[in-house]
Amino acid sequence: MKSGKQRRAEIKARRIQRAVRSGVDCFAPVSVLPVGAVAADPEQLRHNNTHGQFPLFYVDRAFSCRDCNQAQLWTAKQQKWWYEIAKGNIYSHAVRCRPCRRVEQARIEEARSIAQAGLARKREALGNKE
Ligand SMILES: [Zn+2]
Repeated sequence: MKSGKQRRAEIKARRIQRAVRSGVDCFAPVSVLPVGAVAADPEQLRHNNTHGQFPLFYVDRAFSCRDCNQAQLWTAKQQKWWYEIAKGNIYSHAVRCRPCRRVEQARIEEARSIAQAGLARKREALGNKE
């Protein structure tokens, strides 16, 4: 018998394959939404000062992680959250898997704190001179 983890991995692999096959155009109006698609809410997408089109719906998108190069899935639901709730840029898309994203966020956070500490030292040194 397969474990839940194995079954989830199989389901994920199938969803990735399906996403790779479907070259659905999310900007073209359709009478019936494709299977697994999530309708977009244009009211929530108005935050961008873009004159381009907004997607009408979201479908699962397959991508390779920028860092570990593994096949990943950016689900329709995650896209809706990113564009409509997190107000992500309309032209942005997922580039890293979750573990690599965590590593990247930690790296950025560390770099920021080092830079801030350096600025604080510099400010202090300048303050002592005056
Ligand atoms: Zn990765």
